[in-house]
Amino acid sequence: MTFLDLGLDRQILRRIADIGYTNPTPIQEKAIPLVLMNRDILACAQTGTGKTASFTLPMIEILAAGQAKARMPRSLILEPTRELAAQVGESFDHYGKYHSLSKALLIGGENMNEQVKLLERGADVLIATPGRFLDVFNRGHLLMADVRILVIDEADRMLDMGFIPDVEKIVATLPPMRTTLLFSATMPNEIKLLSKQFLHNPKEINVTPPATTATTITQHLVMARTNVLEQKTVQKIKRDTLRKLIEQQAVKNALVFCNRKRDVDIVFRSLHRHGYSAARLHGDMLQNVRINTLKDFKENKVRFLVCSDVAARGLDVKDVSHVFNFDVPVNADDYTHRIGRTGRAGAKGHSFTIATQQDRKYIDAIEKNIAMKIPVFETPFTGCNSRNQSSNKSTQGSSQKKNCVGQTKSKKNEGKQTQSKKRQESLGKEPVIGLGQHVPAFLMKNMK
Ligand code: AMP
Repeated sequence: MTFLDLGLDRQILRRIADIGYTNPTPIQEKAIPLVLMNRDILACAQTGTGKTASFTLPMIEILAAGQAKARMPRSLILEPTRELAAQVGESFDHYGKYHSLSKALLIGGENMNEQVKLLERGADVLIATPGRFLDVFNRGHLLMADVRILVIDEADRMLDMGFIPDVEKIVATLPPMRTTLLFSATMPNEIKLLSKQFLHNPKEINVTPPATTATTITQHLVMARTNVLEQKTVQKIKRDTLRKLIEQQAVKNALVFCNRKRDVDIVFRSLHRHGYSAARLHGDMLQNVRINTLKDFKENKVRFLVCSDVAARGLDVKDVSHVFNFDVPVNADDYTHRIGRTGRAGAKGHSFTIATQQDRKYIDAIEKNIAMKIPVFETPFTGCNSRNQSSNKSTQGSSQKKNCVGQTKSKKNEGKQTQSKKRQESLGKEPVIGLGQHVPAFLMKNMK
């Protein structure tokens, strides 16, 4: 099938040809003709499948006829994060180069007055995150009576982030006579129920089964040997593992995902200290800093972007060679989203998930979700990648210990034991039963 077969107009076809797309992707083949016919859609599609163009291209064509009045947008796209909203905004500019559509963005972390000014001029397309939309709406800057198309993008992410009550409030402000397009990477029951509430007789589209990972990504599970329970030491061992992987693999650039913002900061500083070109991205950072950081990464000015899950969904950066999960994601769906940042648009990608035995239950949930076992990565530097390695392996011979990433602690212990033995020898004593070998020197003297 070609783009011509989809019913798009000449201006858009010219732009598509300029950009260099030869054929529509499966989601585009299915969605574009339906959107042009004003049908509601419930689409299960991951990012990286050409999802954005599947709603942007027909919307540009539909909105080309007509003009927006002040404060009265003609379409609304809801996105869970500011980055995604900004990215969809860029897509409108990109695909709509030959159309003079007006656009406004309502996202948190940026000056609201500037955003409202754009609304005053009239916006054919309004792209918003739910919180900021309601803020602006409640201040009386918006009239929604002209909205003909509503897109709810990344609905499962909205659900995870607790935005659904806000989305319900927003939908209640819209006229019932509209086309609604709902996209979600996964289709949990809550989203299906929501679709019944928001959509009228939707056409269901499913381009990939829920939560499948792209076949272009080679996945690896790296079991970092951590026989210690102290969190600080575990994290240090994982940072060592990360650096060794980076050195061992042909890493052009990578996203490094951590579960907590605090760890994003720590891993970022660690990479920086070890001389790597790195930046960080998480939700507590100012919006303009987040946008500039992402831009630097996209333009290859930094090689490693250490980030929280704020960067996991939908961000479209071309040619990311690797994704490292510094932490195993607690939410199994997040795994699919994180590693989906590599291996995009047919390119090859690699993911490495650094795990400890404590992560077992999360790995099991992920493997169930993606319906496959993540292959264990045999590394010369850990030499201890067995899935079932257990803490009693600390009793193994020291030759194996030396090969492990977790050797720091073992070596230190060995050192301590030698010192203690020497001390005892110098005192001419056998270890005292009940006190092990760690008999304080002053006690030894008293017992002499
Ligand atoms: P998305 O799923 O919207 O994040 O799109 C992923 C990537 O696919 C983007 O970089 C698009 O530029 C690219 N893309 C979208 N449609 C096509 C197409 N028909 N042919 C080739 N690449 C495409």
